[in-house]
Amino acid sequence: MMGLRSVVHQQASVRRGMLMLEGILVKGYSGFYYVYAEKRVWECSLRGRFRLRDQEFLPGDRVKILPGTGRKATIEEVLPRRNCLSRPPVANIDQAVLVLAATSPDPDFNLLDRLLVQAAAIQVNALLVVTKQDLEEPNEERAAAWQVYSRLGYPVIRLSNKTGAGIAELQAYFTGKTSVLAGPSGVGKSSLLNSLVPGLELKVGQVGRKLQRGRHTTRHVELLPCSGGLVADTPGFSSLYLPTMRREQLAGHFPEFHAYLGQCRFASCLHAQEPDCAVKTAVAAGEIAEFRYRHYLDFLEEVIAAERRY
Ligand code: GDP
Ligand code: ZN
Repeated sequence: MMGLRSVVHQQASVRRGMLMLEGILVKGYSGFYYVYAEKRVWECSLRGRFRLRDQEFLPGDRVKILPGTGRKATIEEVLPRRNCLSRPPVANIDQAVLVLAATSPDPDFNLLDRLLVQAAAIQVNALLVVTKQDLEEPNEERAAAWQVYSRLGYPVIRLSNKTGAGIAELQAYFTGKTSVLAGPSGVGKSSLLNSLVPGLELKVGQVGRKLQRGRHTTRHVELLPCSGGLVADTPGFSSLYLPTMRREQLAGHFPEFHAYLGQCRFASCLHAQEPDCAVKTAVAAGEIAEFRYRHYLDFLEEVIAAERRY
């Protein structure tokens, strides 16, 4: 038979469980924390008796909140992080939205592959967005390159921020997810965020963006509600640096290599100079796109150089 004390205790925790909401921290700002739960933003403080104060919060952190009066609530618990990005500092990212322009600037597939490796390294899915469709002129080589990515399983969404074509199709990808945009300057990321997030008025066409970048370093990142999901207001990832890794890890971040890994003559094959390499055979047979393999070799050199530096 259950003792009275344990029954009372159980009822209390059930009641607390029912009152608590699970949400996502969208920004922290001078002691207040804003949490998105049940399709609205709650202004939260930390319960004093909690040791949570010592913890460093990041936008994207999943928390349990106890609603108070109005839109006020207290954060009762922080749930474990699945991943976290340093640029911008955001936790629990579900997808990287990699933005390139169809033209002006021309797509840089080396840079795209760099961003794909960065996303893969933290196990985040990637989605490719090609802006400026309104300016695009037929180009077979480029069309073939985009098709390589589609075949690898990355969704490729073509759109125009000018005409609005394709925006509705993209919106569905944001639902229920936390996303971060990435891509070079001038491709239309700010324009895109402005059309996805009602009321947002980011400045567009700030080439170089020295002033804004300066402000970004002091300003806090914020997650914005967007088509039933959340999106970081600051573009992410680094277009310059590959994540720190061991040289033998790089091939794992190229999904089309997977089927061939373990089939080379040498178990330690880096798919570069080695004889009887299954990856190189696949490239020669046209099963792996040559430009992707070339980027792999570029990155391999960088990863090896970085290994030496540390
Ligand atoms: P960001 O640097 O990636 O944030 O790019 P911006 O949003 O600031 O856009 C850079 C420039 O490209 C601006 O002059 C925009 O007006 C222009 N732009 C952005 N998207 C499109 C598009 O889809 N079509 C055309 N024609 N211009 C665009
Ligand atoms: Zn090999």
